Amino acid sequence: VCPISPKAIVSDACASYSTLERLNRNVKPALDDLTRTTDFFSHYRLNLFHKKCPFWNDENGMCGNIACAVQTLDNEEDIPPVWRASELGKLEGPLAKHPGKTTQREEPRRPLRGGLGEGVGESCVVEYDDECDERDYCVPEDESAASKGDYVSLLQNPERFTGYAGDGAKQVWDAIYRENCFQKTSFPHSDSLGVGSQAQGPAAMDFKAVIEAAGRQQVLEQQRQENPMTPFVAKTGFEHEDECLEKRVFYRVISGMHASISTHLCWDFLNQTTGQWQPNVDCYVNRLHTHPERISNLYFNYALLTRAIAKLGPYLSQEDTYRFCTGDPEQDATTRAKVLAVIEKASSVPQIFDESLMFKNGEGPSLKEDFRNRFRNVSRLMDCVGCDKCRLWGKLQTAGYGTALKVLFEFDNNSPEIPVLKRTELVALFNTYARLSSSLEAIQHFREMVQERDAAG
Ligand code: FAD
Repeated sequence: VCPISPKAIVSDACASYSTLERLNRNVKPALDDLTRTTDFFSHYRLNLFHKKCPFWNDENGMCGNIACAVQTLDNEEDIPPVWRASELGKLEGPLAKHPGKTTQREEPRRPLRGGLGEGVGESCVVEYDDECDERDYCVPEDESAASKGDYVSLLQNPERFTGYAGDGAKQVWDAIYRENCFQKTSFPHSDSLGVGSQAQGPAAMDFKAVIEAAGRQQVLEQQRQENPMTPFVAKTGFEHEDECLEKRVFYRVISGMHASISTHLCWDFLNQTTGQWQPNVDCYVNRLHTHPERISNLYFNYALLTRAIAKLGPYLSQEDTYRFCTGDPEQDATTRAKVLAVIEKASSVPQIFDESLMFKNGEGPSLKEDFRNRFRNVSRLMDCVGCDKCRLWGKLQTAGYGTALKVLFEFDNNSPEIPVLKRTELVALFNTYARLSSSLEAIQHFREMVQERDAAG
């Protein structure tokens, strides 16, 4: 493996598709094992039905298709003990508090674990409210027993084609991409203004066309280089080709997530004539193959998550730092061993993404809050997705990217501070990594299918 230059995300890097594909062949079996065979990582608790879209009235965008439905676990006995409200409830008490803003502000250099009390691992901590920690990149999923949470088995509700499309889906994607319209001077972000206010501006309206134009320009370069780490220059109407690194990264994360969703829906596609679930090569060609910059962004996200997981590794491997409170020591140990197996593989390449380059030079430092607020808005936009299953995976993946960004940008490599993560964040992070991992595999299969089809004339 060629060592990845510290400038990997700024200039050309040597992390090629094949480097990442080789890494993925190594990581994927362990990642699948973790997310498919442990109760802790195969279930998720989230507020799926009780939050209204904060940006517009979404009643017309609802998907009536059966494939959009999510099967929730409504009976306590169907929920693995590790996720049951009664188990979560056990941890409630004055000591089991998430360290709030005060602790973090007052004692930024101390291990945050200090505030939790003996014997309480962060991942077991019950969250009391929906409030954002100031370092969060997404709106947290509330785990408290009192909140209106829904339990879902991720295995029973695979991310695949649902038929959700049309104006409703388009409106959400448009709003997500509009969050990329950073302005030179940050403007205040509020829950209700974040998307709506930008939607009014002419620059925002032109954004899609400009992005597509930038994409076409990028295609040529991509074809020359076949290099997933090449920065994507997103022109937003506010900025030019010398677009700063942070804005490019924001765009790539969103576009890479979109590309991964498209890959899954094309890979697990319902052939409505035969009723068979099967890969749809035309779907892949139209949405991905002819847009190599989207594939490049997907690979970019894979590198980003690999780095976040490798960075968390030393903390997750300490038994007294993170606990997988299944209530059964044997199961805890098995879960931990499976987490460690993923970390070991993800750490088997030299540092693949250098987060220390971001928010450093030029307008970088002033952009951090804007970047975080915009990403939170993307996560809030998931409540506007009118298909339950798409909303489930959209929420999980924005939470996963939000966690990765938090790990990368909010925790100093040289600090003794332990990144405090909620259980939902940890589960989202590893499952998002697993989604990207299966996207990489699907893309390789699709490429072969296209080649075979072309060869057959
Ligand atoms: P869309 O995918 O809706 O794209 C809209 C426009 O965005 C495109 O015309 C193009 O200009 C641009 N674009 C497309 N891809 C990229 C990219 N990677 N980077 C940059 N720009 C891009 N459908 C399912 O079947 N299953 C799901 O699980 C699912 N999950 C979803 C989750 C979310 C959060 C959302 C908003 C939608 C989801 N959908 C899902 C719907 C799906 O993503 C598409 O919106 C739908 O299939 C219609 O596709 P489309 O061809 O109109 O283009």
